[in-house]
Amino acid sequence: MKKKYSLKTRLSVNMAFVALFTVAVISVVANIFINRQFGEYVAERQKKRTESILSDLERQYDEADETWDVEFLHTIGMSALFDGYIIKIYDTSGGTLWDAEKHNMSACARIVGEITQRMRARFPDSKGEFTTNGYDLERNGRPIAGVSISYFSPYFYDDDDFRFLDSLNVILAGSGVFSLLLAVTAGWLLSRRLSDPIRKTAAVAKRMSEGDYVVRIEEKTNIDELRELTASVNQLADSLCKQENLRKRMTADVAHELRTPLGNIAAHIEAMTEGVWEPTPERLSSCHEEIKRISRLVFDLENLARVESENLKLDKTRFALAELAEKTVSAFEADIAAKKLDVSVEGDRSDISADRGRIQQILINLLSNAVKYTPENGAIRVRVSEATGAVFLDVEDNGAGIPRDELPFVFERFYRADKSRNRLSGGAGIGLAVVKSIAAAHGGRAEAESREGNGSRFRITLPK
Ligand code: ADP
Repeated sequence: MKKKYSLKTRLSVNMAFVALFTVAVISVVANIFINRQFGEYVAERQKKRTESILSDLERQYDEADETWDVEFLHTIGMSALFDGYIIKIYDTSGGTLWDAEKHNMSACARIVGEITQRMRARFPDSKGEFTTNGYDLERNGRPIAGVSISYFSPYFYDDDDFRFLDSLNVILAGSGVFSLLLAVTAGWLLSRRLSDPIRKTAAVAKRMSEGDYVVRIEEKTNIDELRELTASVNQLADSLCKQENLRKRMTADVAHELRTPLGNIAAHIEAMTEGVWEPTPERLSSCHEEIKRISRLVFDLENLARVESENLKLDKTRFALAELAEKTVSAFEADIAAKKLDVSVEGDRSDISADRGRIQQILINLLSNAVKYTPENGAIRVRVSEATGAVFLDVEDNGAGIPRDELPFVFERFYRADKSRNRLSGGAGIGLAVVKSIAAAHGGRAEAESREGNGSRFRITLPK
């Protein structure tokens, strides 16, 4: 199984790794670069030093007497020796004027040993060694002496140089430790800013999964992605809350719809079985009416459940919407004739691609409402029109209309404008919910316009 780490550990460790790696790379690169540059600088410095030794020596020659100030040669030679330069000076005839090795053999050996050992220890790969170079001293173009200078070539470091390099490494190591601490602290702080909102979101999601939809994430964060995450979880809670309320209301509505007819039937049958009422055909048919109302409600509910189900399968074919409207109107002929309504179907005859059965369901629901809510001698217009990419189906009547404040709710399940009027007309407030679901399943929409007392217009928009 894979090991699990918290965001804090993960981030801190990763940041520490990055810091360590960066400092290590910087140290290596700095060391390589400095060693090369510094070596060149030291080699140049040592070349200058030999030049200054030579000019110092040259100045000790007395031209008039053609003699050398040997005491000063000794001073210059000794000071050069302690700096790591072993000097020998000859006069023009080859006689020795001053020789460091002769003068202080043991000091020369010690200095050669010390420098060689220190340089080899520090740079085991370097091929440096003590080498001797010869120079001629001249005055006015005439040779006055020969000098040989030996030192560790190509260059060697003195105490100050070593101290400089060591302190550089101390600074690099120090900044390594400092950035490591900084990285771990930064990682820890950053992870806290990330993990706190994530933890709270997870806790809220868990409570939601346990059925608590009232919880919301209050945590404020200025990280975009986390803000989106908390906002989405809060939105999810909102919609779950809404769904839950809808479910509760639906149950209450169904119970309410069933109570009245069931109560009536129960009262009738009880009275008849106890002999209080004679079971006359009228009373039995009144019971039958109530049972029919319940059956209709159950049928409507089943229908609604079907069209509202997520995977409503549409059996799409091409057909002329206006022709289907005409056919559906003719099914209402008896009601239309009884109310002496003036019904017309007009508009475009072109085909649309949709589920014919479901679209007919829309027409039936809209027409039955129009017929129901339009008084005698009223008029109903069905119109099919086209716009780019869409087809409109309008069903308009000049009947009762819908109060302005109720208009936004007519497509909701169990919604009935003017309750008392509708209980008599028998609707349970499901017809328009079915219309809306079918339109939505086709990728379209359903809208209503109305002025109370002045009729209503329902518009279904379907994609072509
Ligand atoms: P119902 O089964 O009650 O007709 P619907 O969902 O079809 O349910 O309609 C919801 C409500 O919208 C109705 O109760 C009615 O008040 C109102 N309504 C629908 N169509 C019309 C119309 N053409 N004229 C007036 N009111 C209407």
